[in-house]
Amino acid sequence: MSSSLAHVLNTDTRDQADPLRDIKGQFHIPNGMIYLDGNSLGLLPKASQAHVQETLTEQWGNSVITSWNKHGWINLPLTVGDQIGAIIGAPAGHTLCCDSTSINLFKVLYAALQLNPGRTEIVSTRDNFPTDLYMVQGLSQLLGQNCRLRLVEEHELMQAVNEQTAALLVTEVNFRTGRKLPIKELANYAHSNGALLIADLAHSAGAMPVNVYDNHVDFAIGCTYKYMNGGPGAPAFLYVAPQNLTTELSLQPLYGWLGHAEPFAFDPDYTPAAGIRQFLTGTPPVLAMASVHAALRVFEQVSMADIRAKSVALSETWLEAMAQKGLLEQMPCISPETAEHRGSQLAFQHEHAYAICQALIAEGVVADFRAPHYLRIGFAPLYNSFTDIANAVDVLARIMQTKRYTRAEFQQRQSVT
Ligand SMILES: *Cc1c(COP(=O)(O)O)cnc(C)c1O
Repeated sequence: MSSSLAHVLNTDTRDQADPLRDIKGQFHIPNGMIYLDGNSLGLLPKASQAHVQETLTEQWGNSVITSWNKHGWINLPLTVGDQIGAIIGAPAGHTLCCDSTSINLFKVLYAALQLNPGRTEIVSTRDNFPTDLYMVQGLSQLLGQNCRLRLVEEHELMQAVNEQTAALLVTEVNFRTGRKLPIKELANYAHSNGALLIADLAHSAGAMPVNVYDNHVDFAIGCTYKYMNGGPGAPAFLYVAPQNLTTELSLQPLYGWLGHAEPFAFDPDYTPAAGIRQFLTGTPPVLAMASVHAALRVFEQVSMADIRAKSVALSETWLEAMAQKGLLEQMPCISPETAEHRGSQLAFQHEHAYAICQALIAEGVVADFRAPHYLRIGFAPLYNSFTDIANAVDVLARIMQTKRYTRAEFQQRQSVT
């Protein structure tokens, strides 16, 4: 596309100067697609395609059950966990790749309550991602008065801890607005008031430096299928800070044989394994983990600082382009004004946001919609280019100008938005 915006914004030059410019070639990019939804489901890394194929044919096909030892299947939760640990700033041996983010949250919530006896309250934010709140509500149903959820607004978090609070549960980057919360300040504030900090890194892991250890996060959880490109429904992760790993307590409630000190002793009584292993429950999904393993190797070639710098530059370019086209008056940005307070996404408000998103997708620009009326644009520095941004805003401008989004075909709501 010959684009006036690409020229105005000089995106060619920016792409040439981009230290991550060659990484894009390591992903499968459907013909002509501009993919701005890496915050929901990352693109397929070519290496994952090859590695999953080889896990199927060679490992499962030819080595069958011996692969549990021969190909290290049994240790995948720890080995892939350490790959994730390197991305989120965790010391080795403190991160697992297992289960879903929701299940992992359930485990660490219980652990936080156990480690903070006498305190029964989990404080979170009203517009946290709903599954996070549901998991606390479910635990509350089981534990009665021993687990209660209290909700506050994001700006009230720094006054939210009282003597009943066992843990603050915060998602670092808000899934709708993209607002980034100050994790380190929140962790220090929680600690100085006797509470622990649980961070959901679903929208930050793989998109920016996180540094769970340096920032004194007690527990972290998050997805691998968003910015880490692990694949649809890929297993999630769980981090536990060194001072919280103890075998004096069974920290998590989902006692499973792989979290046992000696799984192959087949003891009828549960004894937790030492270290992070006690947070395991059952058998790892090997094929899905093969995909995550290969996807994370892409991160070994890049620095998180470069990823963050490009994420900021891409989102600033998007905003400049929208301003140039006069689009911000029609669809105001509801994300924080300064890049420092944002994750790697922008959200725009418009009454017809759903239909606009569908019209964009029909033109090969994939974004997503979040209720009630937000168009969400995710920036994945590993594979989005500056030229992509200029071209995508050109498409958006045309859709807005022609009001193409008013067509009947774009109004039909599908089950996944
Ligand atoms: C995407 C997301 C989840 C998803 O949880 P799953 O158990 O993987 O479905 C959880 N929390 C937040 C904040 C998310 O953005």
